[in-house]
This record gives sequence, C-alpha cells and structure tokens, in this order.
Amino acid sequence: MKFSEVVGHHEIKQKLIHAVQNGRIPHAQLFLGQEGGGNLPLAISYAQYINCIQRTAEDSCGTCPSCVKYNQLQHPDLHFCFPITGSDNTSDSFMSEFHEIMRTNPYTTYIEWMEKISDAKAGVMNVAQANEIVKKLSLKPYEASYQVMIIWMPETMNIPTANKLLKTIEEPPNRSLIILVANNDEEMLNTTLSRVQYIKLKKLQDMDMLAALTSKFEMSFDKAREIVNVADGNYRHALRLVEMDEEEEDTTKLLQEWFRASYAMEIGKLGQVVDTISKLSREKQKSFYEYAIHIFRQSLAMNNAEEVMRVTSNERQFLDKFSAVTQNHKIPRVIEKMEKAVYFVDRNANSKILAMNLSMDLHEALKLEN
Ligand SMILES: [Zn+2]
Repeated sequence: MKFSEVVGHHEIKQKLIHAVQNGRIPHAQLFLGQEGGGNLPLAISYAQYINCIQRTAEDSCGTCPSCVKYNQLQHPDLHFCFPITGSDNTSDSFMSEFHEIMRTNPYTTYIEWMEKISDAKAGVMNVAQANEIVKKLSLKPYEASYQVMIIWMPETMNIPTANKLLKTIEEPPNRSLIILVANNDEEMLNTTLSRVQYIKLKKLQDMDMLAALTSKFEMSFDKAREIVNVADGNYRHALRLVEMDEEEEDTTKLLQEWFRASYAMEIGKLGQVVDTISKLSREKQKSFYEYAIHIFRQSLAMNNAEEVMRVTSNERQFLDKFSAVTQNHKIPRVIEKMEKAVYFVDRNANSKILAMNLSMDLHEALKLEN
C-alpha cells in the first residue's frame, strides 16, 4: 500500500517521510487514531516506504520487488500480530484470514475482524503471541533493510502478554521496528506507552474523504457529501454507506425491470428477472417485495395527488411514467398479492414459482381495464 492509497493524514505522512529520509526511524512507535480513520493502512504504507528500494520524496514506488511483496502483504520481513481467540493459537493460526480481510478492506474494524474469525465478540493477544513476536524478531531480516512487526489493537493484550513484550519494545533486536496501532491508549499499560514514540492521527478531514469517495466510486458530489457528513471522520463507515447505497440502486433497477417485463409479458426478459429475484437470500426476497409494496403505495399517493415523500429522484422519474398504468382501483389488488408473497417467502415457498406467479398477477393487475 502506498501513502497515496491512504486517505488524508497529509501532515503525518510528511513527518514520517522526513524521518525516513533523515535516517531517524524510531524503533517503536504507536500509531494512535480513531476507528475507521486509517491508522492501520497508514502503518503498512509507512513500513512499505521504509523498505522500498526506489522510494521518492513523496512515496514508495509500488513496483520494486519489496513493494510488490508488500502489496500482497507477503513480504517475509513484514509481520503482524492481532487479537485472536483460543489460548493455544497464535497470530500465524489466523494469518491467511488476516491477509484476506486486509486485502479487501484495509480499513477493517476490530468487530469486523472478530466476526470473521470467531463467534466470540472479544479477542485477546495472548502470551503465545508474545512468544511468537519475540521469536520472529530474534531472526535477522531475510532481505529487507528493516523487518517490521505491526501489532494491531494492542489494547487487547492481557497483562502477562504486555509484560512479556516490554523488553522487545524497549529495545527491538537489530534491524527490527515495532509499530503498535491502537484506537485507545487509555486501555494500555503505562509501562508499554512509556517505551514508544507517539504518532497521533487527527480525525479525517471531510475534504479528504470527499476526494477519496468521488475518485474511487462513480457518485455525484452531493451524494458523497451526504455520506461524508454522516460518516464523521470514519472512512470505514463511509465505505459501508456506499455499499448500502449501491445495493439500494441495484434493487431499484431490478424492481423497475420486473415491473416492465411483467407489464409487457416479455417472456425472455421476465425469465431472467425472475431468476435473479429467486436467487436472492430469503431475507432479501422479503425486502424486495416489501420495497415493491412501498413503490406501489407511493404510486397510489401520486395518483391521489398527494405529496409523494421518501423517494429518490430516480424513483420519482420511474413513478411519473409508472403511475399511468397503476390506476387507483388496481393497486390495492397488487399490494395484496405482494403481501402474500412476503408471507410465503417466510414459509419456505419455492422462490422461483412464487416470483413467476407474482409476475402473472402483476401482469393481470396492470393490464386490467379501467
Ligand atoms: Zn518500491
């Protein structure tokens, strides 16, 4: 991960780059910042920069042998420690899961991580993990100038683990660097904290999140601003809102296709749409039919010249045309069918037959003469 791939934190990046360029790299540092603010990706990009063999005054190169391995998180001199479950397990027991979650979502949170590896809500850093760290750092780096141990969520260390690591953090073996990455230093021991240099991350700026969202996703500036306002400095939260928004768009599109295909009875198209609906999870099928009911009710309101609330501009455009074929007396009948569908999905009906029957009902109701 390059610095440029990490959202915001321009001043801290400059400070880190400056330290590396001047050969003043502290042996043990604490990257402290709020959840979703990116302290973990920043720590990784810093370690990558330190070991890049073609680094510039701005960033790592991203293409040298070291960067290529760092990009995959597969560099033999890059180590991780993170909260886990099971007192006999070590970080290595969950390393492939950790690599996987970090590659798909470097802004991952502690809760997301725990959900991935266990049913337990809380994880811990146990003594076996401390021994693992000591052992790994006792070896010389394989190929890098520095081997780096990134310890994510050191708040979860129990006291024996923290004590076991004091000496290593105080004086990491030759050519090793330790980076602790934490959300809350109040949950850590003073003896640990007194041995590290702090890098305090400020809350992510709205402008930086806006720039990141609009360059990464196809979305309007207004939409991005809406998300950034809600996310309040938490980029992980912003990404989640984008996902939800994309899902909503997909649902809207599917619903409109279904209505059109049912109305026109285009068998080929209808078959495809029915297939897509019936492959959704049961929960999603239910929300899909509930969403269809919502749209019909909005259409009813529109035909009654009531004010239509809670629809997006896309939905409104669709409703403007759609309401012409949904005259008042047809709508209650369709809504009733949809409600029955929700009931049957809950009772494990055959999803495909259900969706196909509903399409026929929809066709009849929409085609019914006034
Ligand atoms: Zn490089």
